Amino acid sequence: MKLVLLGPPGSGKGTQAVMLSQKLGLSHLSSGDLLRQAVAAGSQLGKKAQAYMEKGALVPDEVVIGLILEKIDQGGAGFILDGFPRTLAQARALDGALSAKGQKVDQAINIEVGSEAVVCRLSGRWTCRACQAPYNIPSSPPHQQGKCDRCGGELYQRPDDQPQTVRQRLEVYLSQTTPLIDYYQRQGKLSPVNGEREPQGVLKDILQALGVKAL
Ligand code: AMP
Repeated sequence: MKLVLLGPPGSGKGTQAVMLSQKLGLSHLSSGDLLRQAVAAGSQLGKKAQAYMEKGALVPDEVVIGLILEKIDQGGAGFILDGFPRTLAQARALDGALSAKGQKVDQAINIEVGSEAVVCRLSGRWTCRACQAPYNIPSSPPHQQGKCDRCGGELYQRPDDQPQTVRQRLEVYLSQTTPLIDYYQRQGKLSPVNGEREPQGVLKDILQALGVKAL
């Protein structure tokens, strides 16, 4: 199964992708995580991406498309794309690469969350430096302050979760990424789910949209 998760920053794509990949045995590919790893490693690609990410702008298509398509080429039965595609050019490049292998995106899930909820969620978000697990203060704090429940790693606030950058990321999402909703709808692949509820409820709706029995 090849899935795309759409939704504004902070809509819970990462959280849902982790749960879905465990439930369905699919690989989880997050363009944001891959880019942050490249920045942390100080690679050429990371150096190119860093300035865009810090401003809340999109990293240029040619950089991100190469990064993701290379991972998809590494095979596996299926994947969940989290944060990619974010532009029409990326969606077309993905379709082109898959169709060259006789494959296709099976479904796109759009996790709907309003702008106010996004700003509120991102300003309280803490992320594990080691495994990227997300937490939210006050709604889903870790058991021990500053420490990841899953791996014990250190929690930090992403620099692009600062209020000014969050607003910029939302604008970028509205202008550059929302056309993808129409793109997948026209292909008959779009399933909207209400993301303004607790993660397990959202997961249940996604599994239902995929025709998979809940947990
Ligand atoms: P995320 O973790 O998905 O919120 O992504 C964090 C940042 O990485 C974004 O604000 C962009 O600067 C960059 N980024 C992630 N995915 C993409 C993508 N598909 N296209 C362009 N930039 C991206």
